[in-house]
Amino acid sequence: MRLVMYDEYEVGVVVDDGVRRVTDLLDVSGKFGAPQRMNELITRWAELRPQIEARRTGPADVSLGTVILRCPSPRPRNFLAAPLNYATHRAEMKGPMTSGAGTAADLGFFVKAGGCLSDPSRPIELPRVPGRRFDHEAEIALIIGDAAWGVTRADALDHVFGYALVLDNTMRMTETQREERTLRKSFWTFSPMGPWIVTADEVPDPADLTLALWVNDELRQEGTLRDLIVDVPGLIEQASAVLPLEPGDVYATGSPSGVGPILPGDVVKIASPRLGEMVLKVEERSW
Ligand code: MN
Repeated sequence: MRLVMYDEYEVGVVVDDGVRRVTDLLDVSGKFGAPQRMNELITRWAELRPQIEARRTGPADVSLGTVILRCPSPRPRNFLAAPLNYATHRAEMKGPMTSGAGTAADLGFFVKAGGCLSDPSRPIELPRVPGRRFDHEAEIALIIGDAAWGVTRADALDHVFGYALVLDNTMRMTETQREERTLRKSFWTFSPMGPWIVTADEVPDPADLTLALWVNDELRQEGTLRDLIVDVPGLIEQASAVLPLEPGDVYATGSPSGVGPILPGDVVKIASPRLGEMVLKVEERSW
């Protein structure tokens, strides 16, 4: 099943010809609670799933082309990410741009500010910071379903609600400018996520997921989760030993090689045969 958030944080299931609205099955309402509707849906999934399945047989309420697609899990309590989690990306990260030789195996996770999650419909805005390079990082995110704490890798996939494409765009360091990774990866709009969540029942083995990224139609990145240094079960085991992971939490699994700069005017496309695609304009920040 493909689940979307759209317009004013309506929740829907993708059907052949568009989106079937399921917001009415949820209790969270009102302008200020609306972005948390996906957290509610995930928390109540066992109860709601049959009703949402049933909606898939009806006609679409709206066509995908006419809605504003939102980040499908816009209010995670935790937004985690794997540092260097592909050997090929580790090999290309040399010199002052990088923090060191550590990988996700020994470093664990880093935290991204939830406020950098962004809608598939919104441009990536680069801040005006002279002399700095901004890079694309194409990644696949897992979204937590049932809360996970102290989970072993054998049970870890039972706690995955689904998967989505995400970017982990980054301001690179220089010899003298060495900010925290969290700051460099948390700029507004730096993590577009979407276009929807594909539920985990459609992805029996996440190692089968692949992704690719193009800048202005030039292929820059290709990867498969089969090449992760720490695989999806391992990431959940590692993080859930630190703190409980909660329904709707987002975990970006790391970027394959081919990371490179983006500039205002570029168009970034990230795609996965199983997860869909997002096409994102790059602009100079509007404020
Ligand atoms: Mn990354």
